Amino acid sequence: MDACSSDYMMTWFEELAMNAGSVQNETLKRILEMNHGVEYLKQWLGDVDVHNMDAEALQSLYRSVVPLASHADLDPYIQRIADGETTPLLTKQPITTLSLSSGTTEGRQKYVPYTSHSSKTTLQTFKLAAAYRSRVYPTREGGKILEFIYGSKQFKTKGGFSAGTATTHYFASPEFKLKQQQTKLFTCSPHEVIFSGDYKQSTYCHFLLGLFYSPQVEFITSTFAYCIVQALALFEDYWREICNDLYNGTLSPRITIPGIRTSVLRMIKPNPCLATWVSSQCAELERSGWCGLIPKLWPNAKYVYSIMTGSMQPYLEKLRHYSGDHLPLVSAEYGSTESWIGVNMDPSSASENVTFTVVPTFSYFEFIPLHRDAVVGAGGAAYDDYIEDDPVPLSDVKIGQQYEIVLTTFTGLYRYRLGDVVEVAGFYQRSPKLKFLCRRKLILTINIDKNTENDLQLAVQKGSQPLINSGAELVDFTSHADTKNQPGHYVVYWEIKGDVNEHVLARCCKEMDAAFVDHGYVVSRKTNSIGPLELCIVERGTFRKIMEHFIGNGATMSQFKTPRCTSNKVLLKILNLCTVKRFRSTSY
Ligand code: AMP
Repeated sequence: MDACSSDYMMTWFEELAMNAGSVQNETLKRILEMNHGVEYLKQWLGDVDVHNMDAEALQSLYRSVVPLASHADLDPYIQRIADGETTPLLTKQPITTLSLSSGTTEGRQKYVPYTSHSSKTTLQTFKLAAAYRSRVYPTREGGKILEFIYGSKQFKTKGGFSAGTATTHYFASPEFKLKQQQTKLFTCSPHEVIFSGDYKQSTYCHFLLGLFYSPQVEFITSTFAYCIVQALALFEDYWREICNDLYNGTLSPRITIPGIRTSVLRMIKPNPCLATWVSSQCAELERSGWCGLIPKLWPNAKYVYSIMTGSMQPYLEKLRHYSGDHLPLVSAEYGSTESWIGVNMDPSSASENVTFTVVPTFSYFEFIPLHRDAVVGAGGAAYDDYIEDDPVPLSDVKIGQQYEIVLTTFTGLYRYRLGDVVEVAGFYQRSPKLKFLCRRKLILTINIDKNTENDLQLAVQKGSQPLINSGAELVDFTSHADTKNQPGHYVVYWEIKGDVNEHVLARCCKEMDAAFVDHGYVVSRKTNSIGPLELCIVERGTFRKIMEHFIGNGATMSQFKTPRCTSNKVLLKILNLCTVKRFRSTSY
């Protein structure tokens, strides 16, 4: 069987899944053998002879002596690596690349090691997922993919390592090209467009090329559904210019980056017939509010493929609007910068039912059973209100139980708490199928940005300094991720005591925006895919009204906590009715 074929991939996975428990033990043994004697592990495993131990016994020993860790526990080691220390700290193989993962640690960016293993598992994930998709939605070999993907700038750490997001590393890796060759589907845009660093210029060219190759486009994709929705909103403004370029084989003057101009102009040529067709389709679509835009302009596309679960759910309605009633929306795989986790084996399932089957060779997985505390945060805010049991290995998870995922990776993370909450929905052979529930402590997110309650608190603290310096007081605050208006943005509501002039409040707003240092947020703000933060000053007594609302609805005073982030309609109505002043940040 051809080692790149869909059948090969599915057979490979079936065998792994059948023996998921023992494959997990072997995976852990490989990780520990590869990294035997590194500084972090030595303090727990000492001189244990991991090479000659039975895999099952090694697993028990490992789980009993190595403690669970958070990013903060591993961060000092990662920092030493970033600063250029060459002794084996987390892995034996030298780490040369670092990725920026979601969230921040006490206001600093969160690095995790990235190795060739990371790109390899990305390739395996995409090939396996493509195999399952092609079973249900066959595509034509040699066709095109319209991908709304954006590489961010890679930069150097103090020790000279390149750092950037994991997707950026992947787009720049040989595996990105290999995936295209092996799945026999090719992205429309060249490297220069993906890596332009300018969100709008890249998006314009993704569309121009996507339309130039329209009859060959087999599916449309992005990492997160938000990106497709936002790109299509831009298309509503750009389409006339794009049609003009298609007609004449030119490139709009809004594309100013020389590298993109050269590479795109080399690819396109005048196509008046196609341009006239696109233009008439768009004129009709504009009149009908752009409903069904995707199948109209890419009539051979078989589906739209993107992460639509978790924090992407709010964008589904708009995506459905653009896709019309018949084009399937396929939920993309589950992974993180730290490790890939599972694949969607059933591409036809609706996003609310989608599950991800764990691939037991990607990492060694453990699961912390979570039980809901009786105290539930007001306003639907994501309070960390779980009671935990001892972690269990993959072979011991139970259907219907919720867990937090713990990873031991080939990249030097040991019993690392990922912070995601999942539910076991079933099994494929012996490998669990996970339903993604939420980020355990995440409260603000629009697209690739992820900020926790703590990050919000730090930003508010910094942002309110000018207010405090002028003698006023911050009484209470909450926030909301506004995804209804494009581009989405953070809204932070403040109730203040004392008189403060408008210049001071405008400064507070600007400083608060700049104080969100999560890499995803900063990158999105710079490219304006997240709009300026909005500070709303509410009238005195507003937070009391909110508390009264919850108490009136059955909460007790001792349970009540001001929700730090909310999407609750009643609460937002109270907040918006009570808003007396609004400011938009001028940061970025
Ligand atoms: P990052 O570390 O920035 O790569 O973000 C990874 C996080 O994004 C995961 O830990 C999840 O919280 C979320 N995520 C990734 N894939 C999915 C998915 N398919 N569905 C829902 N959330 C996801």
